[in-house]
Parts: sequence; C-alpha cells; structure tokens
Amino acid sequence: MSDKGEWRPATQAIRIGHHRTQEGEHSPGIFTTSSYVYQSAAQAAARFSGDEAGNIYSRFTNPTVRIFEERLAALEGGACCVATATGMAAIMSTCMGLMQQGDHLLSSRSIFGSTVILFNKYLSRFGMETSYVPLADLDAWRAAIRPNTRMLFVETPSNPLAELGDIHALAALAHEHDCLLVVDNCFCTPALQRPLDMGADIVIHSATKYLDGQGRCMGGAVVGDEQNVGEEVYGVLRTAGPSMSPFNAWVFLNGLETLDLRMQAHSANAMELAQWLQNHPSVTKVHYPGLDSHPQKALADRQMKRPGGMLSFEVEGGQVAAWQVIDATRLLSITANLGDTKSTVTHPATTTHGRLTPEQRADAGIGDGLIRISVGLEDVQDLKDDLARGLDSL
Ligand SMILES: *Cc1c(COP(=O)(O)O)cnc(C)c1O
Repeated sequence: MSDKGEWRPATQAIRIGHHRTQEGEHSPGIFTTSSYVYQSAAQAAARFSGDEAGNIYSRFTNPTVRIFEERLAALEGGACCVATATGMAAIMSTCMGLMQQGDHLLSSRSIFGSTVILFNKYLSRFGMETSYVPLADLDAWRAAIRPNTRMLFVETPSNPLAELGDIHALAALAHEHDCLLVVDNCFCTPALQRPLDMGADIVIHSATKYLDGQGRCMGGAVVGDEQNVGEEVYGVLRTAGPSMSPFNAWVFLNGLETLDLRMQAHSANAMELAQWLQNHPSVTKVHYPGLDSHPQKALADRQMKRPGGMLSFEVEGGQVAAWQVIDATRLLSITANLGDTKSTVTHPATTTHGRLTPEQRADAGIGDGLIRISVGLEDVQDLKDDLARGLDSL
C-alpha cells in the first residue's frame, strides 16, 4: 500500500485509514470499548507517560474513530485530523485550543446560527471578543483586523445566500497579521473545495451534513497541522471530552466511501434545479454559485470543483408567498437540516434567521420571500414538479 499518497480522492475516500486486524475483515469493525489493556505494568506506564504511542482510553483515541480521522485528513490534504461529537464541538474545541483571554476573533457575518451564539454568548464570557464583516468584502476584513486578532473564521459559500469568501486572499491577509484562517467547509466537503491547499490553516466540518450524507448521526472534525490540531485542539478534546463515538465514526466512514459520487450528483441536481427556477416566472432571483448570474462566478470556478447542493431563491409576495410554496410541497422535507439524500426546504426569515431583528435580517439580505433548498439525490424532475405546484399558484 505504498502508493497511498498518490491515490486520487475518490480512492482515498474508500481505501485510506483501514488497517486490517488479524481477523482480516474487509469492512472496518466498530470498536465499542472504552479502555484498552496493556501487556505489563511497564507498558501501562509507558503509554501513560507518552513514551509509547497507543490506545489508553476512548475519550483520547479509538481505532474506529482513527480510521475516519486518517481518511478525512487525507481528503482535506491535512497532516492531522481530530474527530468530535458534533460540528459545534469542533468549533468550540478549535477556539478553546487556539485562543485565550484577550484574543479577538474576526468572522464572516453570515455564519451558522449556533456558531454566532457560541462566539457572542459563551466565548465572550472567557474574554474572547468576536466581530463580524461581510464575507465577500476584503477591504472590510482588512480594516477590522486588530493587534489582538488571533483567528479569521469563514464559511464559504454562505448560508443561505451563497456568497463566497476568497480563501486565497483571506489566507494571505491572515498570515500578514500572524492570524490563523479557519474555514468551515461543511457546505462543500473536500470533494468540492480544499481550503488547506489554498492557504487556510484549519478546516472544520460538521460531519452531520454531507460527510454522513443521509442525516443519521451527529459528528464533527478539525483538520490541520500537527501543532495546532494534533497538539492544541486534540489536547482540549481529550481533556474536555467532546469526542466522536465509534458507532458514529463507522457510519461516517461508510458515508465517505460515496462522498465523491454524491457531491457530483448533488451538484448536478442543484444546477438543473437552479436553472429551472431562474426561468420560472414566479421566481425573482436565484442564489447559486453555478449560475452565470452569480456575482462571484469566476471565484466559484476557481476555488470550487463543482457548485454544490445548496441553493436559495426569492419569490415576490414576502412570507405569505414563500410559505405557500413551502406548504404546497409533498416530497421535499420541511426542515432546516441539510446535506442529505433527501431534499429539504426552509424559510430562513422565520426559522434559522428568525431570532434576528428585522433590521439585522435586512442587513444580511435575508428577505421574507427567500426560500432555501438543500438539493438531495431524488430525481430532479420530481423536485421540479413538487416546487411547481406552489410556484404556479402564486
Ligand atoms: C450544521 C452546521 C454546523 C454545526 O454542526 P453540528 O453537527 O450540528 O453541531 C456548523 N457549521 C455549519 C456550516 C453547519 O451547517
């Protein structure tokens, strides 16, 4: 297996990380054990002191979880990956491991709601302050950096408007100021976008989304170098304990095996649906990085292999019209979850972004007529038929 490093991503996603046991199993097993046994007192002492590498306790390491970590590290092109209980645990562990009291975090404005609450309500209690800038405005990023800024945090494409951040440019800016660039790569996965190749220092995942791909388990991951991730983030994880369960790791391993295929199919379905929506008379605007009408199409082509499965669109008539379209669906699931084989539909203004004030929503570009879709893997004609019922009635 000496050619592992040269394998292409689709092969890595299926083959990397599984070191067969003496049983010769073809498919990885689930190691449901909390602790591990030593051959002697001396070996136990060597493991605990760190002189000998090996398993001690499943809060620290677990063989099934390690397969997932090795595989995702290879797919993202990082030296090191640590798996976490959820995506939020990955973000929390990264901040706790790499920041301290008095540090400033600079984040793009349109990020996942729980991430905002983590930054504003909880990290602030420990003396870490966060400020926000519009994702696509590089001058605003530059102007907002302070002497104590430690980390730039970005989600690209953004949710739900599919704006993009220029990862190359943000990495250069971060490094000019001795900061780390952290990219939440949940919407793209390494099958579509590899932030570390573009200069980012850390990649964060909610494995709950596309890495699983079928909406079954909660999980997360942090990928990066040996020092930041392998020492600092891992140190928080093994001490504070938001570690991934071996069962969930096993589910994600199965998810990763089809990641490349799924992301191609999600992108193809979303592209076709976006074009169809764009031509529908009831739709005033479609936000999707694959469309020529996207204001950052050139950047999307540069940094994303394909445009992904997330899109949003606007209808005239505000909330009443948007709800009418959503309530007319019979196939799409009305839920805020995403990254599933099953397509989902959400009204951001009254759900994911419902706790913002009307002014904050307007500022973020979340209109009352906006509808977000996570495009699944059903036949795209059925998705069109399902949306046409409501759209044709407007
Ligand atoms: C879902 C999500 C998270 C949080 O992940 P959980 O697994 O739900 O904790 C973080 N970032 C983005 C972009 C997400 O979509």
